[in-house]
Amino acid sequence: VRYVSTRGGLADASFADVLLEGLAPDGGLVVPATYPSIEPMLGSLVEADYPEVAFNVLKLFIDDMTDAEIRAIVNDTYRPGVFSGEGVVPVERLGDRWLVGLSTGPTLAFKDIAMQLLGRLFDFELSRQDRRITVLGATSGDTGSAAEQAMVGRSRVSVVMLSPYGKMSPFQAAQMYSIDEPNIVNLAVEGVFDECQDIVKAINADAEFKVKNNIGAVNSINWGRVLAQIVYYVWAWLRVGAETETEVDIAVPTGNFGNVFAGWVAKQMGVPIRRLVVACNENNVLDEFFKTGRYAIRSTGDVVPTSSPSMDIAKASNFERFIFDLLDRDATATEAIFAGLTPAMPLEIDTSLLTDVGFVSGTSTEVDRMATIGSVYADFGRLIDTHTADGWHVASQYIDEAVPMVCLETALPAKFSASIERATGVVPPRPEGFEGIEDRQQHFTVIPATSSAVRGHIEALNGTA
Ligand SMILES: *Cc1c(COP(=O)(O)O)cnc(C)c1O
Repeated sequence: VRYVSTRGGLADASFADVLLEGLAPDGGLVVPATYPSIEPMLGSLVEADYPEVAFNVLKLFIDDMTDAEIRAIVNDTYRPGVFSGEGVVPVERLGDRWLVGLSTGPTLAFKDIAMQLLGRLFDFELSRQDRRITVLGATSGDTGSAAEQAMVGRSRVSVVMLSPYGKMSPFQAAQMYSIDEPNIVNLAVEGVFDECQDIVKAINADAEFKVKNNIGAVNSINWGRVLAQIVYYVWAWLRVGAETETEVDIAVPTGNFGNVFAGWVAKQMGVPIRRLVVACNENNVLDEFFKTGRYAIRSTGDVVPTSSPSMDIAKASNFERFIFDLLDRDATATEAIFAGLTPAMPLEIDTSLLTDVGFVSGTSTEVDRMATIGSVYADFGRLIDTHTADGWHVASQYIDEAVPMVCLETALPAKFSASIERATGVVPPRPEGFEGIEDRQQHFTVIPATSSAVRGHIEALNGTA
């Protein structure tokens, strides 16, 4: 397929054209011009392993790589040395539902599934173009470590990652700061996550600086990340729904709407998904939207810090992709909405547009999270993390005996052990290799929350001052 922008300012781009970028040049988001169908192929994939399913999905979206090139990359990504889960993405039955284990990669969160693929695709594309890039990003925790782990040792990529100094869990901070590699630069910003994000946006708005320093992006709006995530929706159906030829419902702990948007694409491609359950924590702008048609983004100061921090968002950065589809891909209407969206000017759509799209939603609070972690442990002896618990809790409101419910495990409990211990009295076991990670030597530079400080570090790294 070819790629376009949700705001109409990009025409007929190839996968290679959009892979290394964040926003489209017109400020919109990159989407495929059409969604290819996977329906005719589903039956033949029942016996396939995860890399084979990944190959067949990716092939539909990538015109400018050969089959052998795509195959080599997925085989190198989705293998036991990278993902420790049985069969890469294990699917287990727990009582009245299924749990899909997306978090057995190097940083113990589902972001590895996409980031590990992206690292290898970047390498391939940069070698082909004989280019280098500097990936500039901001993280509140999981994205930064997943991106850094994916780029370690890649000679054509450097990573400059901004994180809020002292605001991440000790485990998350150690995951990033213990990396000691010449191409990984950790900048610990004296500020909050939103200030980190604003600095990244400001630098990305400076076209001259961007070109001179070859700035690229791996944030959640990168199309390659969405693409990698489509695969496990197909996989989940093959494991849960294929044998009985039933539709499934899939519950997704949601922040920036990247993960669940991949589920929406899978559904458009003909994967038998009946409903996608959008599970929010206290930062529930999306639950409000799916219930009322009103999308009222919040000011960053109104974000509630929770124990499922990767879902603490004021505004869901991938949501524009869904609205574009909902408005029958009307780029003018999409641009009119998103270019002017502010906390004071919410988007309101007629709820009749939402009746048949297959989304339902709910909110999970601190009390719900703790109770859910406790009850899943009591019932099944299985520890789940805080984000997965939000998904599980909201899924409980939509259980239907006729349609299997699938929940996505988006992080392992070891990442958020204080909350898990609070809920169950049990300290979650650490996977091999993470023992004593907090005691390792750390490598980061504390900087003020200014874009000039960040620019200075990028120029020093690239010798472009
Ligand atoms: C990033 C993240 C989420 C939210 O995913 P989105 O794609 O932003 O909706 C949920 N859980 C965990 C553990 C995450 O790291």
